[in-house]
Amino acid sequence: MTDTTLSLKDTYRIVDHAYDVIVIGAGGSGLRATLGMGAAGFHTACITKVFPTRSHTTAAQGGIAASLGNMGEDHWQWHMYDTVKGSDWLGDQDAIEYLCREAVPAVYELEHMGVPFTRNKDGKIYQRPFGGHMRDFGKEPVQRACAAADRTGHAILHTLYQQCLKHNVEFFVEYFAIDLIMDENGTCRGVTAWCLEDGSIHRFRANLVVLATGGYGRAFQSCTSAHTCTGDGNAMVMRAGIPTQDMEFVQFHPTGIFPAGCLLTEGCRGEGGYLTNSEGERFMERYAPHAKDLASRDVVSRAMIVEINEGRGCGPNKDHIMLHLEHLGADLLHERLPSIVETSRIFSGIDVTKEPVPVLPTVHYNMGGIPTNLQAEVIRPTKDNPDATVPGLMAIGECACVSVHGANRLGTNSLLDLIVFGRAAALRAKDILKPGAPVAPFPKNAGENALGRLDKLRFAKGGTRVAQMRDTLQRTMQRHAAVFRNTKNMEAGVEKIKDIWSDLGDISVSDQSLIWNTDLMEALEFENLLANGTVTMVSATARHESRGAHAHDDYPERDDKNWLKHTVSYLNDKGEVSLDYRPVHMRTLTDEVQVFPPKKRVY
Ligand SMILES: Cc1cc2nc3c(=O)[nH]c(=O)nc-3n(C[C@H](O)[C@H](O)[C@H](O)COP(=O)(O)OP(=O)(O)OC[C@H]3O[C@@H](n4cnc5c(N)ncnc54)[C@H](O)[C@@H]3O)c2cc1C
Repeated sequence: MTDTTLSLKDTYRIVDHAYDVIVIGAGGSGLRATLGMGAAGFHTACITKVFPTRSHTTAAQGGIAASLGNMGEDHWQWHMYDTVKGSDWLGDQDAIEYLCREAVPAVYELEHMGVPFTRNKDGKIYQRPFGGHMRDFGKEPVQRACAAADRTGHAILHTLYQQCLKHNVEFFVEYFAIDLIMDENGTCRGVTAWCLEDGSIHRFRANLVVLATGGYGRAFQSCTSAHTCTGDGNAMVMRAGIPTQDMEFVQFHPTGIFPAGCLLTEGCRGEGGYLTNSEGERFMERYAPHAKDLASRDVVSRAMIVEINEGRGCGPNKDHIMLHLEHLGADLLHERLPSIVETSRIFSGIDVTKEPVPVLPTVHYNMGGIPTNLQAEVIRPTKDNPDATVPGLMAIGECACVSVHGANRLGTNSLLDLIVFGRAAALRAKDILKPGAPVAPFPKNAGENALGRLDKLRFAKGGTRVAQMRDTLQRTMQRHAAVFRNTKNMEAGVEKIKDIWSDLGDISVSDQSLIWNTDLMEALEFENLLANGTVTMVSATARHESRGAHAHDDYPERDDKNWLKHTVSYLNDKGEVSLDYRPVHMRTLTDEVQVFPPKKRVY
């Protein structure tokens, strides 16, 4: 059935669908939610722009955190403390309690589904040390990261996909979701997507839409993320008038291969690897006397940049740091870090069993995203209720901000976040929806917004190629929203972003076809990247303190009095941002644990 109110309908072949639940994204979070929805009897469709097992989750190397205690004593309360401290107290403590408590059953559930975890000598799941994971409320490193060699994400994603196939869920593969369908009351009613293969447009109507579209690392020039990580869900939400949260917090991973940027997992340092400067010094001992190379990512990345800025960088240009693994021996490296051996050989020509590999901090993860509650429901704060929700809409995974990572995510807590909150979304759906319940008809003009954007870009014949515009954005983000920030530099970044918005009319898309038109798809993605980059830059400029990944040279201290609050950012269609703030949840769910009050963060 085609909606007669749709003015562009003649130009496009439009196919309409109805489901109980639509999940957009087939990474770890999307597949875990899809699986749960299918198992609960919901008629579920999962829409994804790449084949499910090619989602970025497949690249996750190091592990998934859970206090199983297989390698020594551990407790979920210790994990919770580390996560709160890692977040620099910006994480919501009730959400973090839920994450860490649920971690143990969540990992056993994955094991029972068939994830081929590496084993310790007792035959239990092998766990390795990771940055910021400590025993006894921050005393000494603990082995908490459950690993399948250095291919943990790959193992989890394939297992989840196989499990999904067992249930009656339908996949729409290589369908690009363009925009949400919202009704006039602000309820989400579905989504409009473009089938890349045959050029048709699909309007999906559902009682519940779950966004699981991943991060926006590609807004930066050098990142570890896949080319698909373009923040599409965040941008869809912003175009629907819903805010994003804490977007200034962008994680730089200390060990991207220099200069390619591909990731060398923190598991390298977990297994005993260490960093040196041009003088051969293990400099992390000066910055984090206890945790050393296994301090939190923001701490290690800053230390590396300070070393380079003070003239102790390696190589002829003194512009990188060295990561040593050679002392661990070829046998251990081949067994525990086989992909690292391979990646280093391919991307830097180095045999890590024999010599150190050059590394530099690289954009890796977005702590910010679509604000949600513990049940994955999307939040749109109102005057009276900072936790008010948007009916019909959920968000999970890297596109969401629950917030369990606050100002800085601990390694291996993201895979955990995907599984725990992907599952929570399905549990909540069971509470609020019945399988087979009538699905509301499309609101008037459903899909018009998406087709309008598609149409504008399809026929865009300006003077600047999409790739060129994207490059300008990526360079701007890399330079003006970096590891160390200051007012002057960020304000210049805001001006450059404004210039990009004013140049948008000059965009040029090479071809009008709707069939496999990758230039058109990249144009849609570029608009999404720009939306994400804009709120990141403006939110960062406004936050006058240093917390977690946001290191502000003009305000070098954390300021709990004025800034212990989440940034809530709204973007309009002219690229203007308005900011608001909402309180951090300083509360717990049960009395098995007390709130951890803010204190100085040392490792
Ligand atoms: C190299 C690397 C290594 C990592 N290692 C670890 C680790 O060891 N441990 C850990 O905890 N974390 C790790 N992380 C972080 C973690 O892997 C990611 O945060 C996580 O996998 C994101 O999962 P996701 O489900 O949110 O999204 P993704 O896996 O990114 O999937 C996004 C999905 O959304 C779909 N999608 C997006 N936009 C659209 C659209 N417009 N239309 C249709 N579909 C769309 C895509 O097709 C895809 O299926 C790593 C990250 C990287 C980049």
